Amino acid sequence: MKRVTTDDSLPYVGLLKNVLEQSGIACVIKNDQLSGGLGEIPFLECLPELWVLEDQDLARATTLLKNLEEPSGITAQWRCAGCGELNDGQFAACWHCGTADTHGG
Ligand SMILES: [Zn+2]
Repeated sequence: MKRVTTDDSLPYVGLLKNVLEQSGIACVIKNDQLSGGLGEIPFLECLPELWVLEDQDLARATTLLKNLEEPSGITAQWRCAGCGELNDGQFAACWHCGTADTHGG
């Protein structure tokens, strides 16, 4: 088992677990019970942790989560100067009239 990440938000760790499982990576959450023990154990050691069961999955899991946190290639929508149509960020020209993207992205 290898620890992939730690976060103070259990719902967020649960989301990451879902992402990994959808990619076929078996993983578990540790410290998902925050109640009890806080008087003796430093709080940081009680944060939810995401672990992969198979050591060889660690690199892939890390990459998946990194991509999740840093979405690349996703840009804001822009409005066509020619016809006023709203285009998704990945389009370099208006899908409606073909005017080139001028929003300066
Ligand atoms: Zn247009």
